Amino acid sequence: MPESSLQLEASLLVKDDCEHCLEQLQRVLSVRAGIERVHLTSSPPKLCLHYDPNLVSVTAVERMARQVGGELQGRFQHQRYRLLSTHAADFSQSLEHQLSDLVGVLHANVNQAASVISIAYDRDCTDPEKLLAILRESGVEAEIFQTACCDHHHHHEHKPEHTCSGNHDHSGHKHGVGCEHGSVPSFLPPWVQERWQVLLVVACGVFFAIGWVGDTFFQLPQNVALGCYILAYIAGAYDISTHAIPGLFKGRFNTDILMLAAAAGAAVLGEMAEGAFLLFLFSLGHAGEHYALDRARNAIDALGELMPRTAFLKLEDELVETPVNELQLEQTVVVRPGDRVPVDGAIVTGHSALDQSPITGESAPVSKGPGDEVFAGTINLEQALEVRIVRLAADSTLSRVLQMVSEAQEQKSPTQDLTQRFTSRFVPTVLVLTLLLIVVPPALGWMEFEDSFYRAMLLLVASSPCALALGTPASVLAGIGQAARNGVLIKGGLYLEKLGELQVVAFDKTGTLTKGEFELLDQVIHEAENEEELLLVAASVERQSNHPIALAITASAHERELNLLAAASLENLPGLGVKSSVGGERIWLGSPKLFRVDKEAPKLTADFERQMSELEAAGKTVVVVSKGPRILGALGLADTPREESEQTLRMLSRLGVKHLVMLTGDNEQAAGLVAKRMGLTDVRSGLMPEEKWEATKSLQQEKGSLAMIGDGVNDAPALAAADVGIAMGGAGTAVALETADVALMADDLSRLPFAVGLSRKSRSIIRQNLTLSMGVILMLILTSVSGYGELSWTVAFHEGSTLLVVANSLRLLSYKGPEF
Ligand code: ADP
Ligand code: MG
Repeated sequence: MPESSLQLEASLLVKDDCEHCLEQLQRVLSVRAGIERVHLTSSPPKLCLHYDPNLVSVTAVERMARQVGGELQGRFQHQRYRLLSTHAADFSQSLEHQLSDLVGVLHANVNQAASVISIAYDRDCTDPEKLLAILRESGVEAEIFQTACCDHHHHHEHKPEHTCSGNHDHSGHKHGVGCEHGSVPSFLPPWVQERWQVLLVVACGVFFAIGWVGDTFFQLPQNVALGCYILAYIAGAYDISTHAIPGLFKGRFNTDILMLAAAAGAAVLGEMAEGAFLLFLFSLGHAGEHYALDRARNAIDALGELMPRTAFLKLEDELVETPVNELQLEQTVVVRPGDRVPVDGAIVTGHSALDQSPITGESAPVSKGPGDEVFAGTINLEQALEVRIVRLAADSTLSRVLQMVSEAQEQKSPTQDLTQRFTSRFVPTVLVLTLLLIVVPPALGWMEFEDSFYRAMLLLVASSPCALALGTPASVLAGIGQAARNGVLIKGGLYLEKLGELQVVAFDKTGTLTKGEFELLDQVIHEAENEEELLLVAASVERQSNHPIALAITASAHERELNLLAAASLENLPGLGVKSSVGGERIWLGSPKLFRVDKEAPKLTADFERQMSELEAAGKTVVVVSKGPRILGALGLADTPREESEQTLRMLSRLGVKHLVMLTGDNEQAAGLVAKRMGLTDVRSGLMPEEKWEATKSLQQEKGSLAMIGDGVNDAPALAAADVGIAMGGAGTAVALETADVALMADDLSRLPFAVGLSRKSRSIIRQNLTLSMGVILMLILTSVSGYGELSWTVAFHEGSTLLVVANSLRLLSYKGPEF
């Protein structure tokens, strides 16, 4: 049977390359007539369709894929919820299962460290409100995620004296002790509601202490002691049971239930004191974990709070203070010195220094003048500026970054995936062992039933994998947060982990190792009448390009006050140059190589070629210009290397990155000159974009894990092929921000060693957490099965290890950079 295949970019078919939507797409398409097989290729994700050309045509297949993709996109949606109630750390997995089993839910992801639940659902079957109701019913308090910071401002504007019911503002995000806490009786005064969880823990502890101390040392009447214990039970179990018991009815079993069962068991056995102590320890642990994780989350929430809520809008000749969400594009606002810039915009008048640290992490002020871009959230230090609004508050760079960071923090890293897979086997195994432990020893007459039951209960507590479940996501949360505070946007735990194990870092030259600010140094006349004609033609065409070379050429023409000609629209020949036409004559403009490879372009004479080689030998980047059949001449340009490049490369090799490679489209000599200064180990020049991609692939195969770092102009294929694609200048170019795996917000390479070091530190903290939690679990399993265990300290160890891994993860929030 004949078979043909067609590959389609996944991103054209479904939004954000969502894996689950792609799988769905695959499933739907594979049953269509004429389609034999559908599979996905990875990086870049493509949908590969194998079809029978006798039955369907290529265009029909493509149309089908797009149409189904479109349907899917409309039909399958994502909704994120903020998790408000506290649960034992091993509850995520059971909730994920429960949610995935719901009708209309394709996929659910619960990240407790980030307090986010995200659900992909079928719009025809269910909706976000319905899902929220189902969550509530099963004891999970959540709210629909409010993303952009301006939503939050919006609420501030309209509800200035927000009360506890206004739960979309940031105080609502400090969940756990938040007022939306579902189990808080609503008749209580607000200050009690706000501190509800802590008050319960304190009450539980106090009642337990009175009961136990009185009973042990002061002959407190038995009944009074019992009363105290009962009160401690109520305080300690209230919060857990309101969330855990409804969950149990939905088939969710986790440590919360286990603790309740253990406390109940202790009560039945007459060990009220032990049960009360257990509940106290457990709820204290919960509260502690939440407090710690909130700190990690607030680390970046704080950046969002930097956004001003109002701006001074300039109208005719007055200034009106206006809420930022009422501003419109192209309006002009005035930013006084000392104020924060309220919107992303371009300076119209004024020169000033700006502190851009909230976005780029660099503490040194940057001076800016008319035409320069300013970002919302940065601080104007010197003089008043008039700024024309280019992006509304909702899509300002800062709010997009914040949204990306919070999405990145939710994503599962490979290690988390691994531990989840481990626990999904481990937990059922332990349940079976527990049953055996309860039944077998008494049946064989080895021990009393009471004894074996107690040991079994201890085993359950000992082996509940809370610390294991929280150790990795808490580190990812803190690591990505700390990176963001320092101007490095990491798009997920995967990349956070990968950055630390790089063997190769490949650099683009122009705009990455160098500033990408070319200077026009030489003009070689060939068939042009004079220098003016050469520059005029070049600039008239390059006006339409944003390549660094083009910018330099137009700038020179502007300096000489040339009146540019009208040129037809530009065609990019990536890695070579551009073509267009002026006054009916075709123009080619680019490297000498362009004139060798392009069949239609006029040929260069041997003599001219020699002249060009000489220019290149001097380290210049050469741009040859032709008009019609005439070779007008050539321009020689040079770029300035970045000062920080050299030191960055040195630090990377000290960090153990073995291969530092330059991949450039520029000529060998210009590349070599830069490479020699900076200490690169390998230079590959004259590469077309697809050759950069090939080089990336082969380096990966030979040398191992590779990061490609570029300015994103024409490095997209190589960036996508790399294990980690890093883009420069995320704050300036929206594309870089959206497409890269890691974005350096400042146009500054020196953040790279920081990112690598942070990743190493995160990996080592993750490893420590895994070792610690596995160690504690093993130890407690041994003590409980062998009969040495006691409920109180078993619970203390269990909760202690959970708290310890979270606290350990928080150390990432103070990471400053690698030390030598
Ligand atoms: P890099 O890999 O260093 O970023 P590019 O792939 O962007 O370099 O460009 C490679 C070469 O192609 C440049 O050195 C230049 O000779 C030529 N070129 C690309 N775009 C243009 C343009 N707009 N105008 C002139 N020359 C260009
Ligand atoms: Mg480039």
